[in-house]
Amino acid sequence: MNLLVVGSMAYDDVETPAGTRTHQLGGSVTYFSVAASYFTGVAIIGIVGQDFQSEHRELLTSKGIDTSGIEIADGQTFHWSGSYLNDLNDAETVETDLNVFANFNPTVPQKHQSTPYLFLANCDPETQQSVLNQMTDNLQLVAGDTMNHWIVEKRQPLDHLMTQLDFSVINEAEARMYTEKSNLVDVAEGILDEGPDNVIIKRGEYGAVLYNENQRFIVPAYPVQNIIDPTGAGDSFAGGFMGYIAATGRHDPETYRQAVIAGSVIASFTVEGFGLDRLANLTNDEITDRFFEFEDLTTFDTAIRLPLRNSTT
Ligand code: AMP
Repeated sequence: MNLLVVGSMAYDDVETPAGTRTHQLGGSVTYFSVAASYFTGVAIIGIVGQDFQSEHRELLTSKGIDTSGIEIADGQTFHWSGSYLNDLNDAETVETDLNVFANFNPTVPQKHQSTPYLFLANCDPETQQSVLNQMTDNLQLVAGDTMNHWIVEKRQPLDHLMTQLDFSVINEAEARMYTEKSNLVDVAEGILDEGPDNVIIKRGEYGAVLYNENQRFIVPAYPVQNIIDPTGAGDSFAGGFMGYIAATGRHDPETYRQAVIAGSVIASFTVEGFGLDRLANLTNDEITDRFFEFEDLTTFDTAIRLPLRNSTT
């Protein structure tokens, strides 16, 4: 497989203005891997409990995802419940039950250690670090995400991990919390100061920004009229982004821009249904059409003379 991801596998209870769902398949690697699977081969490192349903593993394998790195432990699968009633862009965590996830100490199977692309999806930064440490020097690009829970609980290991990332892919609210800044430019620069070469700030319905020393790229989100469930949008964005880069094998500014659009396209489908309902059932035509719609939405003719009034200079 071309891309390896470690993170959470969960059963979620979610409440959105469109309704509620309980015991919905979720977790950062789940959304990430399904999103990335449209572009490249993905393998998962994760942990679930005895309650994890075989139909959910089958859903992942039906997308060509390698699930052999999923450990089944004694106990219950990680459970998260969140509400989007106040803000569709920022989940309010109602409850986090780490369950088997609390003792997640993965050994990366040998066949995955030389995977060229690695995504450290949202989970304990010490677990993210341990997976990174087990990779061989065939690793070409590593990116990572985090969230408020870990910023509060595991700040030091997170700071250390940040220095080793090619890309930090982080939600706007979490990036603000992490840097203790509010202006978006300050926040992006604050993250870069922590060590990653690039930062992508995910801004929910306002899109995403890509920042590095030489490049700034800002895109809106695809305008979805009927948002059903924002859960997993951030992980799907990351999956589309990393999947695109891993599929092309290119590491240049233009590819990074296209990858941001790929991530935005995939995430825009995720929010159109509860859980994986929409994300897991996309066609290549749907993805391609929306990719080109983005071009329509964001380009304009610059070969014009600005109708500026005469100035004295
Ligand atoms: P997002 O893409 O940011 O909407 O992520 C949603 C997913 O994050 C849900 O499916 C949750 O199961 C998962 N999640 C929530 N809290 C945590 C946490 N503390 N660590 C890892 N994953 C989490």
